[in-house]
Amino acid sequence: MKGVGPKNAVALSKLGINTVGELLQTYPFRYDDFAVRKLSEITDQEKVTLKGTVASEAVLTRFGRKKSRLNFRLLVDHDVVMVTFFNQPYLAPKIETGQEMVIYGKWDSKRQRLAGMKMLFNAGTNDIAGVYRSSKEIKQATIKKIVVTAYELYKDLLIDIIPLETRTKFRLLPRQKMVHDMHFPVNQTSARLARRSATFDEFFRFQVKLQFIRKTEHKEQGIRLAYNNAKLRSFIAALPFELTDAQKKVINEICSDMHHDVHMNRLLQGDVGSGKTVVAAVALYAAVTAGFQAALMVPTEILAQQHAEKLDRLFAKFDVTVALLTSATASRVKTRRELLKHLNDGQINVVVGTHALIQDDVVFKRLGLVVTDEQHRFGVNQRQKFKQKGTLPDVLAMTATPIPRTLAITMYGEMDISTITELPAGRQPIETVWLREKQLQEALLFLTRQLELGAQAYVISPLIEESEMMDLKNAEEVFSRLAKQLEPRYHVGLLHGRMKATEKNDVMSAFKAKKFDVLVATTVIEVGVDVPNATVMLILDADRFGLAQLHQLRGRVGRGSKQSYCFLIADPKSEYGVSRMKVMTETNNGFIIAQKDLELRGQGDLLGNKQAGVPDFQVGDPVADLRVLQVAQTEAAEIINDPAFMQKSENKGLLTYLKQELAQGISFD
Ligand code: ADP
Ligand code: MG
Repeated sequence: MKGVGPKNAVALSKLGINTVGELLQTYPFRYDDFAVRKLSEITDQEKVTLKGTVASEAVLTRFGRKKSRLNFRLLVDHDVVMVTFFNQPYLAPKIETGQEMVIYGKWDSKRQRLAGMKMLFNAGTNDIAGVYRSSKEIKQATIKKIVVTAYELYKDLLIDIIPLETRTKFRLLPRQKMVHDMHFPVNQTSARLARRSATFDEFFRFQVKLQFIRKTEHKEQGIRLAYNNAKLRSFIAALPFELTDAQKKVINEICSDMHHDVHMNRLLQGDVGSGKTVVAAVALYAAVTAGFQAALMVPTEILAQQHAEKLDRLFAKFDVTVALLTSATASRVKTRRELLKHLNDGQINVVVGTHALIQDDVVFKRLGLVVTDEQHRFGVNQRQKFKQKGTLPDVLAMTATPIPRTLAITMYGEMDISTITELPAGRQPIETVWLREKQLQEALLFLTRQLELGAQAYVISPLIEESEMMDLKNAEEVFSRLAKQLEPRYHVGLLHGRMKATEKNDVMSAFKAKKFDVLVATTVIEVGVDVPNATVMLILDADRFGLAQLHQLRGRVGRGSKQSYCFLIADPKSEYGVSRMKVMTETNNGFIIAQKDLELRGQGDLLGNKQAGVPDFQVGDPVADLRVLQVAQTEAAEIINDPAFMQKSENKGLLTYLKQELAQGISFD
């Protein structure tokens, strides 16, 4: 582009700007307001522009070689204020008594002083001016100049992606006007209107990509799992409990997907304890009755073992062969070979396993459904690889890390979402208490009394993220302290991440069989462990854990009909820490906790880096602009799913955009 030499090109590239298109879509991150303000309406420390007459000689004081201060009085309406410029001595000769001046600066109301930042000799036609992200290599002013040139030269290439009808319906600016006003708004109102349109534009573009991919995926492959309805009914009737309405609802959604020859890509959300496993079991069974194999993939060996046992029990009378494939199985060569053979010849109907399931030598005869539990632990690539093991099997991803709907849409926009919205009847909310460290003995006293009543308890040792060794040492210390205090009357077990899988399983089984009353554990028990008789949980240094993690941990109790308790032992050092402890004591609802988490620490932390494919929105905020996000999604779906989508002339811009994006090999997963 004219005006961008090699040096600037490199500097811009470092800011993520490589094309004119990217440049024009890199909007100011804030606007400075140069509209002249009245003294009566400005507040302390506000950045404002004042207009007045110079009322005194400018006095320049230098200190040191580089530092200086320039003082003069300014008559603003009927008030005199002091103006101070630091380190801009060259302004001194330009200031003359009686002259009218416009100055931008920070207002100090106590001293009636404006700390001048900028002298505006001609304030220009715009009240506000965008500020861009700049760097050492490229200055603000240079970027601005380049943006102005780029807009002038290339504005005609800014074609509308959002069809006219949608734009009219939601009163959105045409693209050219929108980009113009994002960069060069006349005033706050025009900036706000531009931002509104840009937010929609950004969400819309994201959504059409997802929806387009989804549509093509649906069309391409997909198998019809014609399950046996009567068998399914008798399986459900044989369950030891009545399904909740919410469970029935999601089962219907899942079955309907499976029955159609579209490719199911569904996310099953449900708070801890909402009964996702049994929903998965129904889906797995449905696939088997349709003559397919099904796989359940989980993140840990303990969980795999537990699920396999549970499914074994559930399927006992239903002629389903369940197998377990983990790295522990892998170490027994013969067992493994046998297992692989029967996966290949179809004798095994359902296989439960860890990531060992996606190794290359695992070959299915006819894989129809893959269920993943706690799938946020799985990389997207792993999921992809799994898909390739069958003719694109249906996918059901379960997660107990509830994410607010807003984020669900942005993260899993390509997936359909089923949510279990209620817990089984008769569950009592877990009573959660936050105690200071000096109150630890009180908590232990309570815990012992519960043990006396026949309950079991978990004690979670402090999390040391930096070092697994320290983590272990901590757990061992807690263990020996507790053992000293409680044994021989009660038995204490220890479970930590450095144990071998088989050892872990042994400990878990022993705990389940009530050979231990108390289980000291690191966060290895975080996910999915199900021991209904355990009703007390004590979490040490609770403020070291994230909210989502605390909620997961707490979900290990309250799994039966008995009242359960959770003690958070923590001396948080910050207000943020205190707020987090309070959130935990105030609600048992994972969705609310996730929302609070989001508010308290921002979405970046909630999601971590685990989940690939979460786009960074530049203008829109998925939480604050939730409504817009939802509208954009609905609108995008309607447009993309219109059978005449490709033919309609008003979709030309959109089609061009999609082709461009797809050609660039942008991945949507
Ligand atoms: P999660 O959603 O956390 O995976 P689980 O599937 O492990 O929850 O279920 C938690 C407990 O609730 C299990 O012990 C399970 O047997 C039980 N459960 C599941 N559904 C129901 C129901 N409809 N009524 C009663 N208990 C149920
Ligand atoms: Mg579960």
